Amino acid sequence: MPPSRWGWGALAQAHAAHLIVFTQRLVQTPSLPGHEGAVAQLVKSEMQRLGYDEVTVDHAGNVVGMIRGSGGPMLMFNAHMDHVDPGDLSGWPHPPYSGAIVNGMLWGRGTVDMKGALAAMVYAGGLIKQHDIPMPGDLIVAAVVMEEGGGVGTHELLLHCRPAVCVVGESSNNCVMRGHRGRAEFVARVTGRAVHASMPELGANPHYPIARFLTRLQTLPMESDPVFTNASVAPTLYRTDQSSPNVIPGEVRLTLDWRSLPGQRIEHVAAQLQQLLCDDLESDYQAEVQIVQNRFTTYTGLTVELPAIFHSFLLPTDHWLVQGAQHTLSRAFNRDVAVDVWRFTTDGGQVAALGIPTIGFGPGDPQRVHTNQECIELAALVDGLAGYTALASEMAREPL
Ligand SMILES: [Zn+2]
Repeated sequence: MPPSRWGWGALAQAHAAHLIVFTQRLVQTPSLPGHEGAVAQLVKSEMQRLGYDEVTVDHAGNVVGMIRGSGGPMLMFNAHMDHVDPGDLSGWPHPPYSGAIVNGMLWGRGTVDMKGALAAMVYAGGLIKQHDIPMPGDLIVAAVVMEEGGGVGTHELLLHCRPAVCVVGESSNNCVMRGHRGRAEFVARVTGRAVHASMPELGANPHYPIARFLTRLQTLPMESDPVFTNASVAPTLYRTDQSSPNVIPGEVRLTLDWRSLPGQRIEHVAAQLQQLLCDDLESDYQAEVQIVQNRFTTYTGLTVELPAIFHSFLLPTDHWLVQGAQHTLSRAFNRDVAVDVWRFTTDGGQVAALGIPTIGFGPGDPQRVHTNQECIELAALVDGLAGYTALASEMAREPL
């Protein structure tokens, strides 16, 4: 394997101290979904300080930094600024907003998911600018809002920004990710007749049809797949329209989390679930299965309603982008970089659904995501910076 013209590792190492401090500042600035204003301001000022050619904040509050290249296809680096709730603070070995560094690990909520990757992407743009590193086309570093649970930021970003190629920075242990399953939320709703619990014969108790539905759901054949093993379904939340223990409810609602395979149509899944729920339903009941609609308000005040559908995507292992990224990163790290798929969904599904070739690459261990053990290895963070810089400069952005 010929060595890279640039020593990406050494270059990243020279900027490691600044990268680490910036990551700490991001972690020390809480940014729950819908409350990313302060972190957005931090990202914007850092991009400006690093000499980005353009830095804008769009209507949804996404920060979009641009560095000009040589006129070829545009590459987007995509990272979200929000993070999930830290939960019970007493369970954390180091406080979740501390950014504490202990034994070479930087601790806190968002370190792996995904302020480490965000910082490394911002700094990759900075290195390219400061060292005049050539790029085949423009680089966009998009720091988006409200990925967790909704994907609103990337949804709004793609209305005004269409790159030719996209790299999503969700954690991958610095491997190349070529796809993930999709996800959809459904609500199964059954309406019966509410009565006093002492006279059940006068009512129609909706718990019973739901119980039948759950039994059938457990034996529903799931499509299998050589890469993702299978599609899956899990009942998660359950609500009734009553709060008293001595009333038979008039309505119950069950939420289902569905993980879909590439090519699986969500409308088809909804129809399948509807049939499972309504088969042999007595005339006392009404039932339906619907895709959940969520309403989101961004920190800029934009309100968006989106269905809870998160697309799957999968590039073949011999796709030019997968091979190009693997080759570029293997050269940059001077080791063989593996290709894998994610267990969870990302904003990459939305980008790929528009026909834009998309891969993942991000520092940090995906198994720490959404846990109170969230921390990122400093060495992996600096490797992330080297990797993003190499990808922006050397990776092909179209089929050769
Ligand atoms: Zn994430």
